[in-house]
Amino acid sequence: MTKKRNNFTLIGTENLQVLGSVKQNRSLEEWKEQVQEQSKHSRKSTKTSIIEGIFFGQAIGDALGLGTEFMSKKQVAAYYPDGYKFYNQMVQDHFRSRFEAGNWTDDTDQFLCIVDSILAAGGVDAVAFAKELRRWFATNPQDIGTNVFRVVSRRDFEQFPFRASQAVWEESGREAAANGALMRTTILGAWQFWDADAVRQNTETIAKVTHWDPRCIGSCVIVTSIISTLLREGEPLSLNKILKIANRYDERIAPFVIAANDGNIEKLKLDEPNSIGYTLKTLSAALWAYFNVPAKHFEKGILAIINQGGDADTNAAVAGSLLGAKFGCHRIPEKLIEGLNEKALLAEKCNAFIKKMEENQKDCLTKDYLN
Ligand SMILES: [Mg+2]
Repeated sequence: MTKKRNNFTLIGTENLQVLGSVKQNRSLEEWKEQVQEQSKHSRKSTKTSIIEGIFFGQAIGDALGLGTEFMSKKQVAAYYPDGYKFYNQMVQDHFRSRFEAGNWTDDTDQFLCIVDSILAAGGVDAVAFAKELRRWFATNPQDIGTNVFRVVSRRDFEQFPFRASQAVWEESGREAAANGALMRTTILGAWQFWDADAVRQNTETIAKVTHWDPRCIGSCVIVTSIISTLLREGEPLSLNKILKIANRYDERIAPFVIAANDGNIEKLKLDEPNSIGYTLKTLSAALWAYFNVPAKHFEKGILAIINQGGDADTNAAVAGSLLGAKFGCHRIPEKLIEGLNEKALLAEKCNAFIKKMEENQKDCLTKDYLN
């Protein structure tokens, strides 16, 4: 099935509108046949909608979150007395004046570098991703995180990305644990989702290209494991299983997972100045959404995170992508998709990625992996 969203087309979104028109125009018998035929493809619709949700949830969280990025909660309240709700409210201060409302930032740029590297190499490859990052870096992006800047600008980065990444981490006294790997990683939960070990290895590989700290790698693997489990098993990963993954990487991760599950977003202190940009802060924001936000409240959940300030674009990008995966793209309000300036480009990349998945493993979007 295809569904037109104004000037672009997404593969395989839900069939409810089609069913409605069939009901009006055809006999009851024909309509029943149509329903039966469509129900055969219901798993495909679900999985495809999850992948579309990963793409659009990411970009929406990123572009909306730009409106409060690097603000304290107090500043958010001063700039947006009735709360920040939509792209076009974004204040044009010194930082934000280089962006148009509805544009995404480096988080989604790098997410698309992962996608492009997979499309080019036919799989996950550190050097292919390093090449894409370098290509993006050469375009003088409007924003770039300090850690990524340090790693990607090293002379040997493109040829030996792990060497460059580890060197930067060592130079930080093994302290640097920024959220720059986590901000781009969710799509790796979709690639080879049927193989949990492959997802873990792919995620570790791409995280390590720029972020060597086990807290960074562990937070990426948690997020992609959640997504691959949704696609493979059709159900959310439990708190206990997430904690098990956390403890495999670093004992400092678990408290942030538990705090996210607690449900009180204020306790996460997302605007605390010393930890803005810390990978475990972003993980806690994303998991807060994953554990606590119901399907009908996608928008409310994302805005709750954004109105806390801090590294809001990154926090909301990961949270948005996780919610998009958990509930499917059809649960994302249309106006949020429409407000993205580059929605057609995103749909094109999403469709190419889905096609590549099917080339890599035939019928992966229709097959039942539970049996
Ligand atoms: Mg950003």
